[in-house]
Amino acid sequence: DVPITVKDLAEKLSMRTSDLIKFLMLKLKLLANINQSLSHEIVAEVLKAYGYELVLPEKPDEIVRKVKKAGKGEQWKGRSPIVTFMGHVDHGKTSLLDMIRRTKVAESEHGGITQHIGAYEVKLPRGRITFLDTPGHEAFTAMRARGANATDIVVLVVAADDGIMPQTIEAYDHAKAAGVPIIVAMNKIDKPQANVDRLKKQLGSIGLLPEDWGGKTIAVGVSAKTGEGIDHLLEMILLEAEMLELKAPYDMEASGVVIEAKMSKGRGPVATILVQQGVLKEGDFVIAGYQSGRVRAMFNDLRQPIEEALPSQPVEVTGLSGVPEAGDHFYVVRDERKAREIVEQKQEELRRQRLEPLHKNHLRLEDLHK
Ligand code: GDP
Ligand code: MG
Repeated sequence: DVPITVKDLAEKLSMRTSDLIKFLMLKLKLLANINQSLSHEIVAEVLKAYGYELVLPEKPDEIVRKVKKAGKGEQWKGRSPIVTFMGHVDHGKTSLLDMIRRTKVAESEHGGITQHIGAYEVKLPRGRITFLDTPGHEAFTAMRARGANATDIVVLVVAADDGIMPQTIEAYDHAKAAGVPIIVAMNKIDKPQANVDRLKKQLGSIGLLPEDWGGKTIAVGVSAKTGEGIDHLLEMILLEAEMLELKAPYDMEASGVVIEAKMSKGRGPVATILVQQGVLKEGDFVIAGYQSGRVRAMFNDLRQPIEEALPSQPVEVTGLSGVPEAGDHFYVVRDERKAREIVEQKQEELRRQRLEPLHKNHLRLEDLHK
């Protein structure tokens, strides 16, 4: 039994208790009284009917229980794709990201390499792309396990000299499990030992037959060393993104996921977060994992101060009470009293979990928010 009563739920949905009881009886064949606890399956059903989605992170000790508006009557607009590079170690993920960043970001706007913040955005004539620079598929998988699906497209990087290696297959399996489209970057084509045909054959053997060989997979030859093929790869990413018709609601409290976070000597806790819906503004009260605070300052990936962050935009924020974990959800709470209540409850929950590690899975209605 979870401690959500009919009364609580009705209150959260701003509806009369009697209407909720009627709904439960007519639609879910459930006879309930005002103080009755509802299972989260029932709560999810009710929320769904009222245009919300109940998201329960899979990590058992995760307290953030989030309600996402399903989007009825919301202002949904296009957003740029979020891309993660995956692949075998040393096949060139970091080099490709660096090359893209150097040529598409730093040179055009800054003339210098900017600091690593875990994610960055590239502006191209045809659109923007957000790249997540997560350290390997462990991070990707850890995030997914916590319900934080932050990636729209996976670029599977395979060195054309080495060909497919064990971690290539692993990365591919993770991407498949996440159900995201995969584009193959056949890297290191500048090397004399590169053998693109052999690689295409290998790709075919694992179910990634390239388009030019009669398959369905987009496979682009690239070199992170010379820059060859990079523009083509970016084109393909944008093309794939267009087909996905990615959208997000802009007119609601911001929420998203923590990409990475650290303690900075001068600035206190600093978190790189990715806004997934809504617009995050300076001064917003944010709950991120077990931490909270008012957004003191926001910076884009070029370390320029910004006042608001749109969906798909990675930003660095300061002002949190502590360092959240990568993969933590964050969300804005407008009502300060409610926010403090949630934070206190989360802290209490954390303390309790430390005392009794088996006591978990309590759905806290206080964490439901609009
Ligand atoms: P990661 O482990 O996948 O991030 O791989 P890195 O980006 O660290 O690259 C591993 C090594 O391969 C480094 O020494 C890079 O300089 C080298 N490398 C990466 N891409 C290329 C490429 O396109 N051509 C050549 N010749 N070397 C590359
Ligand atoms: Mg690397």
